[in-house]
Amino acid sequence: RAKKLSGNNFKFYSYNDGEGSINPLELEMELYKAIDQDQLFLQYQPKLNLNTGKIVGVEALIRWEHPNLGLIPPGVFIPIAEESGLIIPIGEWALHVACKQNKIWQERGFNTVVSVNLSAIQFNQPNLIHTIKAVLQKTGLEPRFLEVEITESMTADFESTVSMLQELKKIGVRISIDDFGTGFSSLSYLKHFPVDILKIDQSFVRKLHNNPNDGTIVKAIISMAHNLNLKVVAEGIETKEQLIFLQNHLCDEGQGFFLSKPLMANELELKYSSIEQIVEDNGVPWDVKE
Ligand code: C2E
Ligand code: MG
Ligand code: MG
Ligand code: MG
Repeated sequence: RAKKLSGNNFKFYSYNDGEGSINPLELEMELYKAIDQDQLFLQYQPKLNLNTGKIVGVEALIRWEHPNLGLIPPGVFIPIAEESGLIIPIGEWALHVACKQNKIWQERGFNTVVSVNLSAIQFNQPNLIHTIKAVLQKTGLEPRFLEVEITESMTADFESTVSMLQELKKIGVRISIDDFGTGFSSLSYLKHFPVDILKIDQSFVRKLHNNPNDGTIVKAIISMAHNLNLKVVAEGIETKEQLIFLQNHLCDEGQGFFLSKPLMANELELKYSSIEQIVEDNGVPWDVKE
């Protein structure tokens, strides 16, 4: 993310479609057209309560399907969007689409929370609050059904981060800290941030069963979060063993390919007709701790 933005890292993002790499400047030119030409869309990855297996939220994840280049991953084009300033209209587009979709779900009785990832560039825009309010008003979504995901290294400046978070809190949207454990923020800052949720970065979850230190880190994050009255979400759950470890250590919620991949809105509706529906069990006894 932001910390990777130094210009000399450009080769890092050059996108290879299998026929040689495309230079980021070309990709930027293509990205300019992407919104107008309907090449961007969102997928939604379910977030489950790890005790019950029920969907408690969905994370909106942006996708870019280029007519010639195919599907370009956000890890490739988000940094280009940030570098070029295009992240502002793209971010607003994503916020709008996610809220509009969730409003439709609310009306159908699928009462889920949608989380939208915010880039550091968006977070540092003084009019972010205005944008969020306008999107909520336009789509009619109640603020409590929107969550924003920020990362630890969003601003250099503690004061302005706190005041932005307080503004968000005032609107009534939920705030989560994404990729927790990978940034540089001091843990003592955390208690001054009016956030609701910590998302343990998937790198710790991935290594749970081959590196004992990661188990220790995950356990420490869970207990610290609970001491601060925050909910904890584990990202990147790919195996049953990881899931069971997290359940046993009282992690509240989880996301990952083992539970569900990101889905198109209509796929999600087909699979989960109600939030009462338990996500396919994959052999996991969900009710074990209910
Ligand atoms: P993130 O917010 O941490 O999102 C989680 C990423 O992990 C997603 O990748 C998701 O598809 C992937 N993932 C979920 N479960 C698993 C799993 O079990 N294993 C593995 N290996 N991966 C899993 P994706 O969709 O490629 O997004 C990458 C990043 O791009 C996101 O990381 C987020 O930082 C950024 N991003 C995505 N959509 C948006 C957006 O609308 N706005 C902004 N600013 N950033 C976005
Ligand atoms: Mg996220
Ligand atoms: Mg993450
Ligand atoms: Mg990430």
